[in-house]
Amino acid sequence: MTNRTFDNILNANTVDPDDFRRRKLLNLILIGLTIVSLLTSFLGLVSPAASPQLPLLGLILVLANGVIYFINRFASGPIAAGIFLLMLILIISFGDEPQEVVEGRTLFFLAVPIVASSILLPSYTSFLVAAVAALLSIYLSLSSGIPVNSVGILGFLTVAFGTYMSARPLEAALREVRSLNRELDDRVEVRTRELATANERLTELDQLKTKFISDVSHELRTPVSNLNIYLDILESGERPEQRERFMDVLREETNRLIILVNDVLDLSHIDLGAYKNFSNHAVDLNEIVTTLVETQRLRANVLGLKLLVRLSERPARVNATTEQLTRITSNILGNSLKYTTEGQVTVNTHLTDDNVELSIKDTGIGIAENDLLHIFDRFYRGENVSKSTIPGSGLGLAIARELVVLLGGTIRIESAVGIGTTVTVSLPLAA
Ligand code: ADP
Repeated sequence: MTNRTFDNILNANTVDPDDFRRRKLLNLILIGLTIVSLLTSFLGLVSPAASPQLPLLGLILVLANGVIYFINRFASGPIAAGIFLLMLILIISFGDEPQEVVEGRTLFFLAVPIVASSILLPSYTSFLVAAVAALLSIYLSLSSGIPVNSVGILGFLTVAFGTYMSARPLEAALREVRSLNRELDDRVEVRTRELATANERLTELDQLKTKFISDVSHELRTPVSNLNIYLDILESGERPEQRERFMDVLREETNRLIILVNDVLDLSHIDLGAYKNFSNHAVDLNEIVTTLVETQRLRANVLGLKLLVRLSERPARVNATTEQLTRITSNILGNSLKYTTEGQVTVNTHLTDDNVELSIKDTGIGIAENDLLHIFDRFYRGENVSKSTIPGSGLGLAIARELVVLLGGTIRIESAVGIGTTVTVSLPLAA
């Protein structure tokens, strides 16, 4: 018989490891007892000196073992163990002369079920079994007219006490091991979950990186191939009358490249966390706005746009660097000037209790509702401009948003096609 088959015979239908251990042990004892019972039956048959009831008794025992085995394996371990112990006590108590059971050689055999109970059942049951053994001993004494063996009964209780005391620490240790096991299982589960999340995040970042590289390459391809084409034409000396126009296109494409490269560099700086090292000094956003408006006023005049500014009376001091605030404001203001053909651009700063709100409003071409959902995505250009010649990388608003978030602020955009756009940035004021 292989180890596997033997393990299968000893198996019990339970998930509780403690219950399983006890039931497996009982199965082992039952199998041993069955073999002994079969041998007894066989000896009873072949030996002329043996009692004539021996073969029958052996078979009854085999049958009883089988019933207990099935209960133990498929139903309940404690019930099977209870029946087994009771059977053991009854066999010991009624298998010999009452005299021998109460005060003779068989008395000591009753210690066996008492000790066995603490192994097959919780340790306190050894007292229960000792009490049953004591009651049976008293019954046999009274029914046979033998004096009650109080020393023997005391002996049962002492054995019960001894087994209880020795089994208890073992049970406590097992409980502790099981609780540690459970704790360990829980910790492993939490760690596994954390690792899975980290793994997902890494995969996500990896995909984002790949997408970023492919987007950048895609955006670079058009201006670079245009440069190539126009340089070829200029070099060939064809169409000399259009030379000036070709030079303008080359300048435009070069500017597009410069914008794109600057924006990509900026984004990668943000991704690398370079912008996180802002100074402890607070910077006045109003000063940044004033400087920027001064530099853009000429451009607005050329475009025929009014550039209006209304700043908060008190300084709008924000914990950030001049570079960060300039980048945010210039990206938004630059868009307003870029996407407005007539009318005006208004720049406002307004203080609330804890924040400064910078709003830049224009009367430009506006943004379609569908585009508004993606307007802060990297490389996203609205339907209104993607087919036009207005230069841009689709990175300006993405950069502005990432910087605003880095400073603990929020950014929102409202727009209507043909009416205009308002971008509002809210940043926490320096303490
Ligand atoms: P771009 O380099 O294309 O301007 P941005 O990230 O700055 O990239 O802006 C993303 C898109 O949002 C633009 O392509 C444009 O469609 C739209 N947009 C941004 N600001 C405005 C505005 N003030 N008016 C109209 N459309 C705007």
